[in-house]
Amino acid sequence: MTQPRDPYLPIRERYQAVLARMASAAARTGRPAEAVRLVVVTKGQPLAKVQAVLQAGAQDLGENYPEEGVAKMEAIGQPDIRWHMIGHVQRRKAKLVLTHYDMLHSLDRLTLAQRLERLAAAQGRVLPVLLEINVGGEASKFGWPGWDEAQWPRLLPEVESVLQCAHLQVQGLMTVPPPVAEAEQARPYFQRLRKLRDFLAARFPQARWDELSMGMSADFEVAIEEGATMVRVGTAILGPRTRL
Ligand SMILES: *Cc1c(COP(=O)(O)O)cnc(C)c1O
Repeated sequence: MTQPRDPYLPIRERYQAVLARMASAAARTGRPAEAVRLVVVTKGQPLAKVQAVLQAGAQDLGENYPEEGVAKMEAIGQPDIRWHMIGHVQRRKAKLVLTHYDMLHSLDRLTLAQRLERLAAAQGRVLPVLLEINVGGEASKFGWPGWDEAQWPRLLPEVESVLQCAHLQVQGLMTVPPPVAEAEQARPYFQRLRKLRDFLAARFPQARWDELSMGMSADFEVAIEEGATMVRVGTAILGPRTRL
């Protein structure tokens, strides 16, 4: 008798392989594997693949589009999963994000922070957030401008305003660097995000700045070597996205 082949075995294998590569990269910086959290990016992936990666042990899932993620949450119905919003949030989706997601990586403007603050205060909850930084200067990217170090002091008033939102808990920074041919070429962008984090932490020691959400399928090991505490990995685990 042959065992029926588990159709999602490759997902479990790829999930474990990514964890192993993450642990090696963390070890190269003298950190334990637990110092870096894997957020599996499920945008554009069918439910069966999401279920497979949950069975493999994933606990943190990332989505770019608020409604797509909420549909998956409802279909999966597992309250212990942590859902991360990692995409640009339109003003009218702020409430959906606040009520359904555990963390917002992509807080990219003060007006969104202020809207979330009002909604969170009304609901009596606190939303953990990361400030999204544009480290490459591409016009197509969201986030506060972070590519020119000489201009960093100009970020301080807005960052201070975000920190004044009592119902948003700023925990660190997030970035999506410009596309590069080789992972190694992303390293300066990751270094820049870490350096900006250190700059902000020195000026606003009252906030937590320990999280750096950086690194995707093509470059997560380099990001971990540069201090990532969260990597957002989709296709390296789940294969090509079938929707979008
Ligand atoms: C899609 C996406 C990812 C994952 O990208 P992969 O290359 O599939 O790992 C990570 N972060 C953000 C913000 C994304 O939009």
